[in-house]
Amino acid sequence: MRTPLTVTRIGHACQLIEIGGLRVLTDPWFTQTATYYQGEPLAATVAGLGRVDAVVVSHEHYDHCDLDALLAGGLAPDTPLIGPGTVTSLAHAKGFRNLRTVEAWEATAVGDLTVTAAPGQHGVHEVTFVIQAGGRTVFFGGDSLRVPELDTVPERFGHVDLAILPTNGLCVRPLGHRQVVMDAEDAAGLTAVLRPTLAVPHHYAFHSGRLGDRMITDGDRDPRRYADAVTRLAPDLDVRLVLPGIAVEVA
Ligand SMILES: [Zn+2]
Repeated sequence: MRTPLTVTRIGHACQLIEIGGLRVLTDPWFTQTATYYQGEPLAATVAGLGRVDAVVVSHEHYDHCDLDALLAGGLAPDTPLIGPGTVTSLAHAKGFRNLRTVEAWEATAVGDLTVTAAPGQHGVHEVTFVIQAGGRTVFFGGDSLRVPELDTVPERFGHVDLAILPTNGLCVRPLGHRQVVMDAEDAAGLTAVLRPTLAVPHHYAFHSGRLGDRMITDGDRDPRRYADAVTRLAPDLDVRLVLPGIAVEVA
């Protein structure tokens, strides 16, 4: 029987991926702070998530690495936490005790789960992830820019069942409006290369508040642009725009 694969977006880039009986939480973000607003209702509290077998974190920005909330919410500090060195050193300082440092193309295993870091590029050091178990493969894009090496993921890992990509093309105004996240067109171009069974966008509802949106960040909050771009570039692929809390099973 085919290994079930389900994804539930908790909010923003925080996804609960259920794969081969294992529950993997990505880029946790549960608490808002000045200039970091979720812009959509969260689907669960940390306590409400239920069992979490592993946490993967792409980089240390607040909206992807809310480690204090995980511990405050009762997540066991010996839960395997997988990320680049910039993240695992921070997690160690906060009290996490089962750290797996992975940089691009390095892998770690948690039971039957294999998590391989893939390259990323962002305002700070970032990796993306290939998450595999029971013959199913998920590509998790964090909030990276489109990196050319990501085009090699299908050659390296075989068919991608699920691709989760950011789409807001976030630009940082104080950095000369520099783009630090892939936009809808970038994400659709990568989707056309990865050719997943299902593509789900994330990282678009977030905002920096009324003042912050004028002074700090500029991002596209409409994921339909991504769905339209995929339809144009690869009309045979499936895209699902998903509200937080909706469990999507991948065929
Ligand atoms: Zn970020």
